[in-house]
Amino acid sequence: MILMNDFKLESHEIQKEMQLAVNRVIKSGWYVLGPEVESFEKEWAQTCKTKYSIGVGNGMDAIEIILHSMNVGPGDEVITTPMTAFATVLAILRAGATPVLADIESDTALLSMDSVRRCISPRTKAVVLVHLYGQMKELDLWKSFCNEHHIFLIEDCAQSHLATWNDLPGGNFGVAGAYSFYPTKNLGALGDGGIIVTSDERLSRTASSLRNYGQSVRYEHPLVGMNSRLDEMQAAILSVKLKWLEGYTARRREIAGQYLKNIQNQYVSNLSAPLDAHSHVYHLYVVTSRYRDALQAHLNGQSIQSLIHYPIPIHHQKPCLDMLRDPTGLSISEEHAAQCLSIPCHPHMSQGDVERVIIAVNSFSPHH
Ligand SMILES: *Cc1c(COP(=O)(O)O)cnc(C)c1O
Repeated sequence: MILMNDFKLESHEIQKEMQLAVNRVIKSGWYVLGPEVESFEKEWAQTCKTKYSIGVGNGMDAIEIILHSMNVGPGDEVITTPMTAFATVLAILRAGATPVLADIESDTALLSMDSVRRCISPRTKAVVLVHLYGQMKELDLWKSFCNEHHIFLIEDCAQSHLATWNDLPGGNFGVAGAYSFYPTKNLGALGDGGIIVTSDERLSRTASSLRNYGQSVRYEHPLVGMNSRLDEMQAAILSVKLKWLEGYTARRREIAGQYLKNIQNQYVSNLSAPLDAHSHVYHLYVVTSRYRDALQAHLNGQSIQSLIHYPIPIHHQKPCLDMLRDPTGLSISEEHAAQCLSIPCHPHMSQGDVERVIIAVNSFSPHH
């Protein structure tokens, strides 16, 4: 079976380095928010070209903490996409704010600026822009759009490690960026983890207090915070894995390039190619088909796993049925949810695997 992710194929070298890192933490006798976290925070801020980074418990908390830090909460509206991980919207709800769903563009599945414009009200405080599937697009336009409307831009970078727009990684265009290190992300821990990147000193100080019970100095709590800390073990492992991330990303792009060029089937479409190669890191490679379920069954029959990101748009999730949305509807999100399929695109795939996937997709027909 060609899997969507196959961590057992990770090299012996990386596994050995992770074991050394874990042993180092065990021997240190310090397990939460310590020197490993500080050192990884420095590395990640450098990687992201931001001044600060704040390690937190996971990607969802990263978004919630950014919202809290910007004083976005009850009575405030936050615009985002219905085509995302539930965590994006859950973070807005947990911050006490009101999510408003805007529609997407059909050729990228990224948030549509026209739709966001229709969602703006006097209560709008922020846009959470998701770099979906690993793609950053027109971030300069998003930045000026949000400035013009006096709303905060918050970047959900959970799928876009190392993606750049005009040479700047996610987190440089908005007030802050939220990264996740859930194991299946492009940079994954061996458990949960997340980080906030920002160049705003005040936001950085507030966020690092909020992640740790709102503490300023030991046992003093001027803010109502939460418990969302990155631990030493995950930070040490992430520092190891970071060394491989560039190579892994290059391999993802290479595989995606082959798919884009060679997948040719009248019943299957690729999404549009990124405007520049650096702007997409292919956390997921997504095709669309009117016969999506049959395509998935066909691939499964050829021992190729595939997944749907995402089968249920947010406004069809039970807690979200009454959620505010674009007054003209969310039809493109609905169509995308019905037609999208993510096919294997991970750095441990062999050239043979890639070719097998292409042949399998190209041989699909809904009529037999
Ligand atoms: C994974 C993901 C999150 C949440 O990250 P966790 O670390 O699982 O909390 C948020 N947004 C998007 C787009 C994601 O893919």
